[in-house]
Amino acid sequence: MAIEKVAVAGCGLMGSGIAQVCAQAGFPTVVREVNEALLEKGLKGIEKNLDRQVEKGTLDAAGRAAAMGRLKGTTRIEDLAGADLVIEAIVEQLAAKREFWAGLEPLCPKQTIFASNTSSLSITEMAAGTGRPQRFVGLHFFNPVPVMKLVEVIRTITTDAAVADEVYAFAGRLGKVPVRTTDRTGFIVNRLLVPYLLDAVRALEEGVASIEDIDNSMKLGCGHPMGPLTLLDFVGIETTYYIANIMFEEFREQRFAPPPLLKRMVMAGWHGRKTGRGFYDYTDPKNPRPVKLG
Ligand code: NAD
Repeated sequence: MAIEKVAVAGCGLMGSGIAQVCAQAGFPTVVREVNEALLEKGLKGIEKNLDRQVEKGTLDAAGRAAAMGRLKGTTRIEDLAGADLVIEAIVEQLAAKREFWAGLEPLCPKQTIFASNTSSLSITEMAAGTGRPQRFVGLHFFNPVPVMKLVEVIRTITTDAAVADEVYAFAGRLGKVPVRTTDRTGFIVNRLLVPYLLDAVRALEEGVASIEDIDNSMKLGCGHPMGPLTLLDFVGIETTYYIANIMFEEFREQRFAPPPLLKRMVMAGWHGRKTGRGFYDYTDPKNPRPVKLG
């Protein structure tokens, strides 16, 4: 069965991006939010994004209209039932996700494929709560979705190989570059990225170098587009702390243990760019200054 119709649950940061790329790739797409206000906010965000593409000349007016024409917003869970593939991008809480899947399960035909965009929860655990663990995968996009090329396609020990293949092909049809991985917390990217970011914090804690020198070293010495401490501020200190804890719980390995400084920054409310302060002070967002750490 080829995937022709898509449904997306959640029209926040990730869900709106996923709905946008699906509609732009030619798939009739239904996106669901919990209320009209959030739905409107998400759809407005998509329109703005498309407008920017038109301004840049990467999309013409007809393409914009066609993409918006393929996109339908709803607050009704029933409207997701006609899709071949449902991609869930709601809040990162297992209870909320399980409740969502339990509500959707009886509404969908048995061939519908379920996919979660979770960053840190177990796909196997979510799949086990549905009546279709063999048709359940992880489909992990990166932020911002319209820009980032990679999609991790995650199969569990219960996923049918043909279903994983179908979703892998679908990601390619979105114009993305899919990679295959298994249901281990962190998948590929966070498995490698999180210990690196935590090590940068440890280096700072141990007095190896200053914030700026650590960042400049990885930028200029390794060609990274931004240094690890700048990246931590961008991703969110509390988000990284949360993911590191879940990875530590899964693997029980020191390299995933969040260093004390990261925890102190979370407790102090220094969450990075979004709170105006992390490893840098963003009082002047165009000119972030490294903070003094006591
Ligand atoms: P977000 O808070 O921006 O969006 C989540 C949205 O889901 C909210 O607007 C909320 O109203 C809505 N929602 C909650 N329950 C719902 C339901 N039952 N039905 C429909 N909508 C519902 O969060 P986000 O950053 O977009 O993250 C969403 C998912 O994507 C999480 O699982 C997260 O781990 C994952 N993810 C996030 C990133 C990232 O960089 N932010 C990257 C990859 C994956």
